[in-house]
Amino acid sequence: MSRVPSICVLAGGVGAARFVDGLVQVHDPSDISVIVNVGDDFEHLGLAISPDIDTMLYTLGGLVHPDQGWGRADESTNALTAASELGGEDWFLLGDKDIGLHLVRTAALRAGRKLSRVTADFATQLGIEAQLLPATDDELRTTVETPDGDFDFQTYFVRRQHRDQVTGVRYEGASSAEPAPRVLAAIRRAELLLVAPSNPFLSIAPILAVPEIGEAVRSTETPVVGVSPLIGGRAVKGPADRLLAGLAGETSPAAVAGRYVDFLTHLLIDDADRDALDSLAQLGVTGAATDILMRDRAARAHVAQAALELATTR
Ligand code: GDP
Ligand code: CA
Repeated sequence: MSRVPSICVLAGGVGAARFVDGLVQVHDPSDISVIVNVGDDFEHLGLAISPDIDTMLYTLGGLVHPDQGWGRADESTNALTAASELGGEDWFLLGDKDIGLHLVRTAALRAGRKLSRVTADFATQLGIEAQLLPATDDELRTTVETPDGDFDFQTYFVRRQHRDQVTGVRYEGASSAEPAPRVLAAIRRAELLLVAPSNPFLSIAPILAVPEIGEAVRSTETPVVGVSPLIGGRAVKGPADRLLAGLAGETSPAAVAGRYVDFLTHLLIDDADRDALDSLAQLGVTGAATDILMRDRAARAHVAQAALELATTR
């Protein structure tokens, strides 16, 4: 088996994929492992769908839809249109090429292959050198609690367009889930752990909810450097700011750091949030501020480089 990479990233979907796309520009991709959230995974129209893994595959494989940040570029939706005309559910967008990937994965899982194996094979097919690891091969499902009831992740996020007030989040199955192969080694033997600019509750927490993963991250002696998903106190996209306000009491880099307080050593924040550096210091977290909006590939490389440099600061 090949050597264990020296950098390990905890990752969700779009924010994480853009960050890792920066990292592979400034560090040897084969020396990077990425542990990806699977709490969003679900079965839909008979297909096994892993949204965050797919966003990572499409982004690093150069296939992603550039504006959306998820799904594929140059995509059509004939299959979904046909399904809709037959009364099939059409609230979750699935492009034709995207469905091709889901067909292959669904068949492989039904034949008894593990998600980690299928993901590694896809990464190889797409020419991706970074090691992509689902957090677990076991079933782990994020459930969102709202005043209107509990919803599975995709119902909350896509069908109801993350409009509900979130009063709690559960990670069903996490407490009995085992880390996927190579995940614990990737964490324990990394010289640097990075927490991508992802949603703390919906993307990073489900990974940490796997007991052995949480323990490994909390007991590492290496620097753990996070990148804030906030710019000027607002999420770049999605409900991270509203979840922080509702569940952590405030929308700030300190609230982000507070989600990771057991293990975070450094947090990279935006220039617009520079005022928060003092509150980070009070939490024992070393901060630095720069432009962390990843508007293009060069900006992604800038953010990744800044995170690597921050890791060497005390
Ligand atoms: P997803 O929700 O599954 O796509 O996955 P993530 O949790 O990885 O990504 C969503 C998070 O990425 C949101 O909280 C955004 O604020 C954050 N994000 C997206 N684009 C950027 C960016 O350019 N810079 C930073 N710092 N965060 C970003
Ligand atoms: Ca996601």
